[in-house]
Amino acid sequence: MKTYLEEVANNVYAFLVWDESWNSYNNCYLLLENNNIILIDSGKEEHSHFLFSSLKKKGIFKSDITHFIATHGHKDHIGAIQFLGEIEGYIHNQDLELIPENIRNKLNRKLPDIGPTVTNLECVLLGHHTKGSVLLYHRRSKVLFCGDHICFFGEPLSGNVVDIGVCEKEKI
Ligand SMILES: [Zn+2]
Repeated sequence: MKTYLEEVANNVYAFLVWDESWNSYNNCYLLLENNNIILIDSGKEEHSHFLFSSLKKKGIFKSDITHFIATHGHKDHIGAIQFLGEIEGYIHNQDLELIPENIRNKLNRKLPDIGPTVTNLECVLLGHHTKGSVLLYHRRSKVLFCGDHICFFGEPLSGNVVDIGVCEKEKI
């Protein structure tokens, strides 16, 4: 299974795993700040071992993860959280209905419509992809976490997870 774990900005990592059923990559992110390890989205349940084994190679164990934030409630963003221990889990309450009962207790903290959340992240409710979809902006690193990344189905990455935007913009 093709995976990437790449530092896309200082202390910000992107994890991608190829999902054959969707013919594209699923993505999630890790932000390390002030002794917190914040997982933003988690990938699908069945891909969780790829995420956790990639993190282990960087010396990060799943028990080290202190916070989890879901950009929205689709299964490729929340599936792996059942394998996390005691965490602070956040989601916008407009997406709570998408969350299976057995993991709702992992997502008991609410994201604001607009305003600050965990560490230095700023949250804005988009409400477009799902009713409770949000974006998260990390001002210090200038990284915007928007949930589903821009992809072209069936197309492999050109090399790096982060590339020059001009090429992607032209394709769009
Ligand atoms: Zn989605």
